[in-house]
Amino acid sequence: DEMDVDTIWMDGEFVDWDDAQVHVLTHGLHYGSGIFEGARCYETERGPALFRWEEHLERFYDSAQPYEMDIDYSAAELTEATLELIQRQDLSSCYIRPVAFYGYNSLGVSPEDCPTRTAIAAWPWGAYLGEDALQNGIDVMISSWRKHASSQVPTNAKTTGLYVNSLLAGEEARRNGYAEALVLNKEGNVAEGPGENVFLVRDGELYTPGLSESILDGITRDTVITLAEDLGYTVHDNVSISRGELNTADELFFTGSAAEVTPIRKVDNVTIGDGSRGPVTEDVQSRFFEVVERRTDEYDDWFEYV
Ligand code: PMP
Repeated sequence: DEMDVDTIWMDGEFVDWDDAQVHVLTHGLHYGSGIFEGARCYETERGPALFRWEEHLERFYDSAQPYEMDIDYSAAELTEATLELIQRQDLSSCYIRPVAFYGYNSLGVSPEDCPTRTAIAAWPWGAYLGEDALQNGIDVMISSWRKHASSQVPTNAKTTGLYVNSLLAGEEARRNGYAEALVLNKEGNVAEGPGENVFLVRDGELYTPGLSESILDGITRDTVITLAEDLGYTVHDNVSISRGELNTADELFFTGSAAEVTPIRKVDNVTIGDGSRGPVTEDVQSRFFEVVERRTDEYDDWFEYV
């Protein structure tokens, strides 16, 4: 049912899924010069609702900035397009993928004279790492590939080309029987997953690598920091986490718009805590789902109703 969708918004128009095509000499295909977002729309008692859409759009425009990419559509236009895309396809909950990239013109590395193309797709997408993962957690492998350093590329921009690193790390982990990778930064400290931020729990307090650790400034990371603090936890969100701290953590979990809040039960065959979803993770995770499914009126300003 993943493909129970037939429409894509592309450069200002709704087009049939099969017609959402680009030229093979598209700049972004050759040089990874695209930026994208991944957001979710949740089914709530007030109908489908985009979660933290404003923040995703803000990051979308921020990601374009280092590449001097002018997106031809305003935030209001992209929001209207997304809401209509969801309505037209009658989706209740879905994943939303806005993308902007340099299109076809000349094939020099300079994107000068290449048009900026913009598209949005939305489709039903369940738990990214599987339903079982949310409940029981996953095993992760420390990748032999290090994360790009923020001195080499803007790691806080969600750039398509950067995801070759995520692909390498994730596939290496899966070849070795793990569900996902955990990637260290150039300094050898814990950075993040291929598409997730990571949290560590020790003595009832939460720790997550700071923004200077070459990570993406995750919106779910921010959501979890807010929710955990509101639940009364202390959150250390501007720290370095050494590799060795993973082994002695009480709990570990991933966060992401796709991965939501996914417990980690093993790192490289070392069991974390008692090898199942820990109590703090469970507390934060259940609060997260209570909020995104809008079973509470708090945090209503995080929603954009379809
Ligand atoms: N890090 C990376 C590399 C990612 O791709 C993602 C997914 N966008 C995240 C972290 C989590 O970010 P968010 O919570 O905003 O989805």
